[in-house]
Amino acid sequence: MTGPKPLPNILEITPYKGGQSLENAHKLSSNENPLGCSPLASAAVERAAKSLELYPDGSAAALREAIAKKYGLDAERIVCGSGSDEIFQLLARAYLRPGDNIVQSQHGFLVYRLVAQQSGAETRSAPEKDLTADIDAMLELVDENTKIVFLANPNNPTGTYIPYSEVKRLHEGLPEDVLLVLDGAYAEYVHNNDYSAGMELAGEMPNVLVTRTFSKIHGLAALRLGWAYGPESVIDAIHRTRGPFNVNAVAQAAGIAAINDEAFQAASVAHNDAELLRVSAAVEKAGFKTYPSVGNFVLIRFPETPGRTSAEADAFLRKNGIVIRNVAVYGLPDCLRASIGTVEQNDQMIAAFEAFAKS
Ligand SMILES: *Cc1c(COP(=O)(O)O)cnc(C)c1O
Repeated sequence: MTGPKPLPNILEITPYKGGQSLENAHKLSSNENPLGCSPLASAAVERAAKSLELYPDGSAAALREAIAKKYGLDAERIVCGSGSDEIFQLLARAYLRPGDNIVQSQHGFLVYRLVAQQSGAETRSAPEKDLTADIDAMLELVDENTKIVFLANPNNPTGTYIPYSEVKRLHEGLPEDVLLVLDGAYAEYVHNNDYSAGMELAGEMPNVLVTRTFSKIHGLAALRLGWAYGPESVIDAIHRTRGPFNVNAVAQAAGIAAINDEAFQAASVAHNDAELLRVSAAVEKAGFKTYPSVGNFVLIRFPETPGRTSAEADAFLRKNGIVIRNVAVYGLPDCLRASIGTVEQNDQMIAAFEAFAKS
């Protein structure tokens, strides 16, 4: 007896492993918001918990209106998902089949490959320069079977970004029937003048979609909430492929409260601005290379010297109550990614790095 057999492409998938947590240790492995979430969002969750017998609004109309108002967008061209992860899955379902391919950057977000595999499509990864997406290398991989180009900007786990001029150059180099997905999961943290999440491009072009999430700046990772903005035809395709009630009512209520809480968002950004710099400088000072990040995390490189390797650092930090992210699956076996925590968590992490350097 062998039982039912999944499709061969499904058996090739290595399931995604989230950031680990350890009892009695600080979890700095999933880029979660160290300030928690907006108190207004928590209150909205409590209110929503009083009518759990009711189905949610399947179109998430009030949430889409709130997002549209904040960013000056057309609510009809926004679709919400159970995390931006679900939006990537729906795109794969709507646009990819065996024989097709997606193009991404070498150290791109892992979920793009997973959703392509679910549809039996190939993933092509373009080499990076200085751990930063290389537009020409990406364009070189595009062929007649390419259906989607994914770009996380800023990228996770590298923390690097490319300027808007480069994003536009990438778009200009693509045939009109190739969808460019600009994943702006960390967009709110970026201050650089040459950066844009690409809303304008998604507003004007028939083949550009921007995705955003409530998991990072809004601190609502537990509720699974993301959204996308783009051309009518792409939004329509996502609506056709999504489940009728894909975003639950509690998440919708929390999302509306969170998007309107400017003070919480500003506090999250201010905390990250200060602590990202402080942590990066301290880890450098302890003797480890960090990469300039515009996200809420920092990538750290370790030497191959016995006693100083990434694996040994990881184990040492865990013993000292800090869990950060192993990024070997991203092709960065000698690096670890540390999320920015609270001041106290960061103090403890810095102390652990200093002790590791002296050990
Ligand atoms: C965290 C993250 C997301 C968000 O995923 P959700 O499913 O919305 O929680 C998307 N893209 C990247 C690159 C991320 O790091």
